Amino acid sequence: MTVRAPAKVNLHLSVGPLRADGFHDLTTVFHAISLCDEVTVTRAPGLTIRVQGESAAEVPTDHSNLAARAVLALADRTGVDPDVEVLVHKGIPVAGGCAGGSADAAATLVACDALWGLGLGRDELAEIGAELGSDVPFSLHGGTALGTGRGERLTPVLGAGQYAWVLALADVGLSTPDVYRELDRQRESGPVAVASDPSEVLAALRLGTPEALGRALSNDLQPAAMAMKPALRKVLDSGDELGALGGVVSGSGPTVAFLARDDGHATALAAALSGHGVCRTVRVADGPVPGARVIRTL
Ligand code: ATP
Repeated sequence: MTVRAPAKVNLHLSVGPLRADGFHDLTTVFHAISLCDEVTVTRAPGLTIRVQGESAAEVPTDHSNLAARAVLALADRTGVDPDVEVLVHKGIPVAGGCAGGSADAAATLVACDALWGLGLGRDELAEIGAELGSDVPFSLHGGTALGTGRGERLTPVLGAGQYAWVLALADVGLSTPDVYRELDRQRESGPVAVASDPSEVLAALRLGTPEALGRALSNDLQPAAMAMKPALRKVLDSGDELGALGGVVSGSGPTVAFLARDDGHATALAAALSGHGVCRTVRVADGPVPGARVIRTL
């Protein structure tokens, strides 16, 4: 059973103050893009994980892999033996702020549900997924959605547009908890700019014009990610100079998402950006795309 699950970019991300339980309340607009991981689940004795593709060497193959945790969570909930081999093919940058691990967890839940003939609904899978990571419900959902709570409470956002993106991928990733800690530190030591609310992004999505969306992109984690990786300034400046309609660090970074006018503009922008030598590599993608779904059954 092979399932494809998309990466996400956050078109808007506002982060509330640190809560007593160590989490932050978020208001975010998730957007699923056509940069994907593929997860193939096959019946086998015991549970094994193999990882191939983009930065595979940085991904654990033990039971800390989010795909393994998804198998175990679903098996535990339903009483099925977790006897599967999971092959993860990464197309999503690792530790890039694009929810790659969450995509694998979502894909694995959908694959095992189908392989084991469980017939669980998307809501039940999302409930199990939310315990594995705050972004897993969105990886199941896809499209464009407003996320609240820790990002796991979703409301679909209906919009008119299809958007062309250029992703600038960094050589070394950033740890999400470290970026949140840096934001807390910055806020303790003085006022920092905050993204107001998602209304501008939501209005741009209703309008469906990339120019309006490009102007509205915002992310409270961006200053923290830039403090930890100052080279991100050059990436953002290069995209701006080269005519991107807008650019934003995706989630906790360090991937930067640039919005283009259309597919042709995205291809040209990607080539020019790659020539600037400010990032490891570039990818073009479009969105919104659907959430985790079966693409092949053997
Ligand atoms: P997010 O945007 O949700 O904060 P991210 O995209 O920045 O996440 P991930 O690629 O999901 O980061 O991975 C973060 C860390 O989780 C990795 O450094 C890796 O050690 C671990 N990990 C566990 N399972 C996976 C997986 N299936 N794919 C990638 N990383 C995984």
